[in-house]
Amino acid sequence: MAMNTYRAGEYDVIVIGAGHAGCEAALAAARMGCRTLVLTISLDNIALMPCNPAVGGPAKGHLVREIDALGGEMAINTDKAAIQMRMLNTGKGPAVRALRAQADKKRYQMYMKHTLETQPGLDIKQAMVERLLVEGERIKGVVTHTGAIFEARAVVVTTGTYLRGRIIIGDVTYQGGPNGQYASINLSHSLRELGFELGRFKTGTPARIDRRSVDFSKMIIQPGDERPLAFSFMTDPVPKPQVPCWLTYTTEETHRIIRENLHRSPLYTGIIEGIGPRYCPSIEDKVVRFADKERHQVFIEPEGLDTEEMYVQGMSTSLPEDVQIAMLRTIPGLERVKIMRPAYAIEYDYIVPTQLKPTLETKTIRGLFTAGQINGTSGYEEAAAQGIIAGINAALYVKEKEPFVLTRAEAYIGVLIDDLVTKGTNEPYRMLTSRAEYRLLLRQDNADLRLTEKGYQIGLVTEERYRKMLAKKKMIEEEMERLASVTVTPREEVQEALRRLGTAELRQSMPLLDLLRRPEIRYDDLFTIMPGLERFSLPEEVVEQIEIQVKYDGYIKKQLAQVERFQKLEQRQIPPDFDYDAIKGLSTEGRQKLKQIRPTSVGQASRISGVSPADISLLLVALEQRRREKGEEGAR
Ligand SMILES: Cc1cc2nc3c(=O)[nH]c(=O)nc-3n(C[C@H](O)[C@H](O)[C@H](O)COP(=O)(O)OP(=O)(O)OC[C@H]3O[C@@H](n4cnc5c(N)ncnc54)[C@H](O)[C@@H]3O)c2cc1C
Repeated sequence: MAMNTYRAGEYDVIVIGAGHAGCEAALAAARMGCRTLVLTISLDNIALMPCNPAVGGPAKGHLVREIDALGGEMAINTDKAAIQMRMLNTGKGPAVRALRAQADKKRYQMYMKHTLETQPGLDIKQAMVERLLVEGERIKGVVTHTGAIFEARAVVVTTGTYLRGRIIIGDVTYQGGPNGQYASINLSHSLRELGFELGRFKTGTPARIDRRSVDFSKMIIQPGDERPLAFSFMTDPVPKPQVPCWLTYTTEETHRIIRENLHRSPLYTGIIEGIGPRYCPSIEDKVVRFADKERHQVFIEPEGLDTEEMYVQGMSTSLPEDVQIAMLRTIPGLERVKIMRPAYAIEYDYIVPTQLKPTLETKTIRGLFTAGQINGTSGYEEAAAQGIIAGINAALYVKEKEPFVLTRAEAYIGVLIDDLVTKGTNEPYRMLTSRAEYRLLLRQDNADLRLTEKGYQIGLVTEERYRKMLAKKKMIEEEMERLASVTVTPREEVQEALRRLGTAELRQSMPLLDLLRRPEIRYDDLFTIMPGLERFSLPEEVVEQIEIQVKYDGYIKKQLAQVERFQKLEQRQIPPDFDYDAIKGLSTEGRQKLKQIRPTSVGQASRISGVSPADISLLLVALEQRRREKGEEGAR
């Protein structure tokens, strides 16, 4: 660390790290008019994808769409760098349908770096931040490894898997970040010195292999969707050449080699201390935990168009390199495989997220925000989602405006952050559709209708994006009104058309909209049933909305009723200085947890593990008493 320091500049917002969280945070703050600086260890590793070359999938795809709807960059960048797109779960309900893209990693980085470089009001500098500067209870700035002091009213820390990063391959361990980068050691100490509680997590990645050494004739091709698809609501999907992935399987022989070398696995020798993601287990974990399974899926995924490197999805491990080669060569198609980069595990520090407010500002230092893997999550999408929220709130903090919080009923981003700051996490947190209780409302197809207005209100969403969403909304509403106003009568030609569609004949006249509720009938069929009906050329996404809103109307109404009940408790705010010691009868664990988390609403209090319904009733009574005594406003 530099001995001499010098004042190097002053900004509104400083973002530490240009990973998936940092890029969104920096762009959001700059696009909202703040003078913003990004400091990152290496400019050549901006938006690095150290793990799988994929974006999206169930729940993660929802996050990407929500980031886009708010005016973020990940979706647009993915559309530019995508080399394969697939819509997953098309056979299931709209709540779990999700887009997944294979991205060209180098192109993803290149486009994101250039977007940062061309963003007005944003400076980017290569530097390692060593220390946070705090004055009283407010952030003041940062110090870099060269002694440069940059000052700002808000700082967003998005250091990912780098904080005291430790690389582990068998019994070989060394300090480092992903892809041979430096680890970020002193900043971790600086956070501890400021009183933050840090935990230790780990994650792992599989080997990268040489395409020329793979025999694809022994694998099953996994092509992309022919139908052009896009993540961003601003991208017009155009047909693009799709690069396939390949499916193969582990064998009994693979499992035997792994079992015989478990004594050399750092997971089982205790070299690894950090807790790993349950939903992204290493291959040795899978072989041990699912011992009855004869084989595990292995997907060979291209890392890009201009590289021979391929990613071995499903074979994440920290076993010694010689074991890695032996086990890979037992897999059909990989008999003569060559490893270009060995698999490894990385351990890193994360900040215990219950120390954060729903705005991702820290509770103890004003103006200091954290986002991404540093908050205990795992995944590019989870990181980017937190990044945009932290960037927005850093900008609003600097502008002394109302903070921006999304609830569990409004967005997957709201579910993600509420889970983190209310419940914490004891393993790397990955977003799943099952975590969202209102998932039928939080679909990937309606993220713009849910969030773009909010993004526009805070000054992040462009006029063009806002107008596009309004036009879509208007088309949906007008066409649904039209279909509701057109009556279909049980005339013979109608009955004939219904018979051909394999659905029941009409007994009496009904609005055309009601006919569309039938599962057998699609929007296009309406023009067969009523040939005279004028057909407007509506965009596919408008038709999709009409079909979903009509066919799931009943379920959507039921979920909206649940949301109404949820919001009642959510709107019951708890004053920041509320004295829980004054409430008689609270359970010991409940009181301790409420004092530790300091929830902002009764709704959030009810989700804290250890706080019982009885505690919530006592809290509601105490809040009402206080409101009367102090004549405070606030929801009854
Ligand atoms: C080996 C490995 C395996 C993974 N496996 C999976 C997986 O299986 N599934 C999954 O969903 N996700 C996985 N991930 C996680 C995924 O990569 C991260 O979730 C995602 O990259 C987190 O984004 P982030 O922005 O929080 O941090 P990162 O993308 O890690 O970016 C952090 C940024 O901060 C910068 N930085 C760090 N410290 C400093 C400092 N002191 N000063 C300046 N800059 C600094 C770094 O240079 C970097 O640009 C894996 C990651 C790794 C490394």
